[in-house]
Amino acid sequence: MNKGDAGNLLVVEGLQKAFEVRSGRFAGRGSLLVRAVNGVDFRIPAGRTLGLVGESGCGKTTIGRLILRLLEPTAGRIQFQGRDISELRGRELLRYRQRVQIIFQDPYSSLNPRMCVGRAVAEPLVSHGIMSKKEAGERAAELLEFMGLTAAHFHRYPHEFSGGQRQRVGLARALALQPELVVADEPVSALDVSIQAQIINLLEEIRDEFGITYLFISHDLGVVRHISDHVAAMYLGRIVEMAETEALFETPLHPYTEALLAAAPVAHPRLRKERILLKGDVPSPLAIPSGCPFHTRCPRARDDCRSERPALKEVETGRFVACHFAP
Ligand code: ATP
Repeated sequence: MNKGDAGNLLVVEGLQKAFEVRSGRFAGRGSLLVRAVNGVDFRIPAGRTLGLVGESGCGKTTIGRLILRLLEPTAGRIQFQGRDISELRGRELLRYRQRVQIIFQDPYSSLNPRMCVGRAVAEPLVSHGIMSKKEAGERAAELLEFMGLTAAHFHRYPHEFSGGQRQRVGLARALALQPELVVADEPVSALDVSIQAQIINLLEEIRDEFGITYLFISHDLGVVRHISDHVAAMYLGRIVEMAETEALFETPLHPYTEALLAAAPVAHPRLRKERILLKGDVPSPLAIPSGCPFHTRCPRARDDCRSERPALKEVETGRFVACHFAP
């Protein structure tokens, strides 16, 4: 662990993930690389929330899956409490898989439709050998209650629940193993606005009650602003700006962050006047533009933006920007 990493639950350094694509219309011409994550660095102190924002396809979910070790990185490393997670084997890996959990946009996909939700919540406790079936059932009932459900819900099946209730079940299941880090991947995007607020409040209660650290992935800037201590904006597999939440929302320093905020429905009046509009689509991660990857859509791009890639620099304490125009 480097000096300065003390207190950080998660440290991500130089993380890269490229997927080889062999099929489709490129067949016969060898394989191509989709550079989904392209050299990402960040840290999350214990008990804090880092929000990860960016347009679809910029690599957010891939980072979540790398942290869970559902994918292996192409380069770089992820340290959890000072240990490189790629070195974990056997019991240590099993323990890591208890301490780091994920919640998805659609918890339906992670719940067995033929298992009542009480059993679904108890099941990880039994399969990890932590509790007997009976104890796990009692714990599951407590967790469901904490999530705002009742004993009557215990024996029901996933299809009998509303989206919001299912997300409560998903949270109870993720929490059963008492994780320290939860990767929340678009956890409220599929819900009605009023239900979103309830689930966000619940996530905050969980953080306070259980001291959880979150990596919170979302398109919804309002939600991210509400829940995050720090926010990282990603573009084509890279972090282009990272700062304390209010600093980033009040004075975005990267034109991409500015454009993202301006595109959000709750645009700040000051931003509305002179806002940068995001034109066109994100370029393909199969052919990332040279220089600053955002230059093809940036209204301020100048010559060096086309040829030189700006590094992510700390421009103020805790404030990182990858832009030639950064102060
Ligand atoms: P979204 O918000 O739409 O979920 P995202 O920011 O989470 O997007 P990722 O899902 O991480 O983005 O995807 C990043 C890029 O990697 C995309 O171009 C995606 O198509 C590609 N990708 C992800 N998984 C694979 C895979 N298994 N094989 C090939 N390409 C992949």
